[in-house]
Amino acid sequence: YLKYYEEKCTASKKMIEEAKEYIPGGVQHNLAFNYPFPLVFTKAEGAWLWDLDGNKYIDFLQAGGPTVLGSNDPEVREKVKELLDSTGSVTGLFHEYEMKLAKLICENFPSVEMFRMLNSGTESAMAAVRVARLATKKKNIIKLGGAYHGWSDQLSYGNRIPGVGGLESHGIPSAYYKYTQEVYPNDIAAMERMLKRNRLRGGTAAVIMEPVGPESGTRPLDYDYNGKVRELCDKYGALLIFDEVVTGFRIAMSGAQGYFNVSPDLTVFGKVVAGGYPSAGGLGGKKKYMAYLAGGLGGKKSKKAHVGGTLAANPLSSAAGYFTLKKIAETNAIGKAGRAGDRLTEGLKALIKKYDLPFVAYNQGSICHLETVGTMLFDINIMKIWQVPGKLKEIHSRKDKMTHMGAAYMAEGLVTLAGSRMYTSAADTDEIIDDALVRFE
Ligand code: PMP
Repeated sequence: YLKYYEEKCTASKKMIEEAKEYIPGGVQHNLAFNYPFPLVFTKAEGAWLWDLDGNKYIDFLQAGGPTVLGSNDPEVREKVKELLDSTGSVTGLFHEYEMKLAKLICENFPSVEMFRMLNSGTESAMAAVRVARLATKKKNIIKLGGAYHGWSDQLSYGNRIPGVGGLESHGIPSAYYKYTQEVYPNDIAAMERMLKRNRLRGGTAAVIMEPVGPESGTRPLDYDYNGKVRELCDKYGALLIFDEVVTGFRIAMSGAQGYFNVSPDLTVFGKVVAGGYPSAGGLGGKKKYMAYLAGGLGGKKSKKAHVGGTLAANPLSSAAGYFTLKKIAETNAIGKAGRAGDRLTEGLKALIKKYDLPFVAYNQGSICHLETVGTMLFDINIMKIWQVPGKLKEIHSRKDKMTHMGAAYMAEGLVTLAGSRMYTSAADTDEIIDDALVRFE
């Protein structure tokens, strides 16, 4: 596959070499697959991507999740163009689509009575934490080990891969994450111990988690885990925040909270609420909590949790979000993307069996995972594996191998997230999935 990159991706290579002079690492985006070097893309349409050298790829990155309809949906694009002609990109003032989008989200998510649009998932998680702290007058936030909720100082805390050591990011004074704790996914006793411990040090304002498990379910959760966390939050007076940046309008129109039938107090949105257009994020939740963003509701004055953003809820993002979510509902895009995810995963499982590979394939609808057995064991049985010296190294060299596999997939015309995660979309027909499986093989 290295030969492929050298021979077929010369224009990308040249541009990235120049980019390295001006952009740290030569690439702006964490999701960009950068081994042996990132490719430069020029066109996106439905399930397909084209690079600068004219090579064509099946796109299972789908920008990390927002494009449930597939890339660059033509109907949404037309609506955005119309608006561009009338309002331009931003006025800083209110626009009808902000209302329409907020209403649509509230109608679909039972726990969301109010919605405030923000610029990104990162910002929305920050806003959730701020509201939770103000509403509960408590300090601590508990997250699950290995979970990503954006790159803010307080939530960056911890190891992306638990147990490996070191922080996810340096440059954060320890005081910034003094009130953030991590517990291992699925260990409900550890969650309760942490909630109990926190009572003596400022209380727990909220537990924040992805209802499918950290990293879109790379560390999957027991089916009843969400409900048990809900009960513990009620018992200890903490708010439950669901991060539905990926799962919102991808797992179900009512999100993963609808799918698992567990109602959080606050919901963090991202990506899809602007239909994959820029400025994608928002916070939703019960009125009594959301009211803190406006300093009180119904004449009752409360303290205010300030959030902002010049470009947040701009007309283009709000309209793109509104028309995307409407089309997702009207065309059953979630069902279609989910069936494509099932077909892809079943095909990958068959390949794993045929070639007796040390891999695991599984999916939750349109969120598909292809991991090494080692990585899965590591995450699920972390405590046990800790007691086996030498295992860690082996597991991580396997994780590295997935990066090489990802580069090899790319050479076969398959874009994945780091070789181990894939998002399908409604644009993935049976023919496209079958074509992908031939390439995987
Ligand atoms: N939460 C989750 C679960 C995510 O997957 C991401 C982004 N991949 C974020 C938060 C952060 O969102 P953003 O990139 O829009 O800041």
